[in-house]
Amino acid sequence: MVCLLRGVDGMAAEYFIACQCGWTLSVQLFEAGTTKACPKCASAVRIPSSIKLQQAAGDCSPYLSAVDKLRQAAKLNSAPFNGTCHACNRSTAVVAYPITLQIMEERQISNDEVIRPSVLGGAKLVVPAAEERWSGTKFPLMLCEICDRQFSHENRLHKYSIYAARIVMFGSFTATGCFAWANEEKLAWMSGLVFTTGMLIRAFRSTNTKRIDAFAIKWLSRIRWVPEILESEDEFRVIIGGAQSDLSGF
Ligand SMILES: [Zn+2]
Ligand SMILES: [Zn+2]
Repeated sequence: MVCLLRGVDGMAAEYFIACQCGWTLSVQLFEAGTTKACPKCASAVRIPSSIKLQQAAGDCSPYLSAVDKLRQAAKLNSAPFNGTCHACNRSTAVVAYPITLQIMEERQISNDEVIRPSVLGGAKLVVPAAEERWSGTKFPLMLCEICDRQFSHENRLHKYSIYAARIVMFGSFTATGCFAWANEEKLAWMSGLVFTTGMLIRAFRSTNTKRIDAFAIKWLSRIRWVPEILESEDEFRVIIGGAQSDLSGF
């Protein structure tokens, strides 16, 4: 029996089973344990259990969550961390960039809402404190020499674009200041505008909790489990660890 996993964008993963006639049937996880008629020879093909399907597709631990699978694979140096370049999947990796993926696990209320008598004789509501718990997973982005050159190049471009954005911001801030200085009557609405813009940026930032450098998505999404994790988590941060290390670090 041949089983291959093919992740289709935005769709459930498909598995393939060979019928005795040689035809390849496409099945999905929910069909596990049932039988399906072969479209070629019409004989009933038994579909193995979901665990067996996933194991046959190269998933050694189908009972784990995607985060735990990634964590375990990185720890055991098993696929996709067994030395092949993550970008081209052909050459041997020569460098590894440490990646830290932080996921918000829960935001829990640490103490119950209670009413306590206050000093002045009245009652005071004690507001519960919210507590966030982030879990961190470390794994390497492993690249061959050619892909590393491309990655470093994109990394540099990304950093330059951040500097450029800062210069533009500083420039427009200075220009606004000069304009307001020269036109005192316009000072009030100018500062109002700046204040509103600042508040809008703040509001946008606090709702945007998925943090990852734009250029890095392309590189990380080639690592198995990573796209699945990034898609399923509401709040995460990805940190590309400063200095690159050689593979012995992992
Ligand atoms: Zn058949
Ligand atoms: Zn490569």
